[in-house]
Amino acid sequence: MEKIIVANWKMNGSREFVMEFFKNFNNNTANQIIFCPPTLYINTVKEYVSLIGGQDCSVHNSGAFTGEISASMLVDVGCRYVIVGHSERRQYYQDSNEIVRAKAEQAINSGLIPIICIGESQEIRHSNKAIEYVVEQLSASVPLNKHANYLVAYEPIWAIGTGLTATSDDIIEMHNAIYKALPNPTTPILYGGSVNKDNAYTILSLPAVSGVLVGGASLRSQDLNHIVAFSEQAML
Ligand code: PEP
Repeated sequence: MEKIIVANWKMNGSREFVMEFFKNFNNNTANQIIFCPPTLYINTVKEYVSLIGGQDCSVHNSGAFTGEISASMLVDVGCRYVIVGHSERRQYYQDSNEIVRAKAEQAINSGLIPIICIGESQEIRHSNKAIEYVVEQLSASVPLNKHANYLVAYEPIWAIGTGLTATSDDIIEMHNAIYKALPNPTTPILYGGSVNKDNAYTILSLPAVSGVLVGGASLRSQDLNHIVAFSEQAML
């Protein structure tokens, strides 16, 4: 099965950055990656690749919501995916499970595939309640329609941007628990949390891992080239 790679650029980049990035990026593999640039640069990134995702969307479809971007607007500018429930949104913008579910449902109603992020804090991991917590968070964040099409990204908060990664055993255990809790057990589950060119092969080789969500390392074109090459080897 083909492994999915999501590049989350977060609030980084500029038009010049995009041009420089794609000068050094291997275009043969560009279409196997879902690029999630800041919304303002979606059009610029679209000149180079076709699979684009937003980093978030509103729970509303349109109206007086200053600063918000709707799922249908993302579709309008060529997106096929949108990340919802990223831990930075949950932590800094109070996106609750209820809001994440509403965003995921808006995305689906607009024709996007949501990438629904879930994951536990360090404190919860240490209290041995990670599986219980994540499964509960999952159930409360996914769309109510059991036939809805979405991806899940398991991203332990303590591993995001910290250089720490979950062990293979922990990833397998968590992904298997998530598969069991999902209404559709063929839903892809990605791992995210300090994935880089040195650990990508090990993580992508795990059968329980459908792909990776990459933050920091996705801003370095050469690193992303390596990660994509590993994703191809991991399928063999
Ligand atoms: C992320 O953006 O979700 C992420 C996992 O970031 P990083 O790869 O930098 O940890």
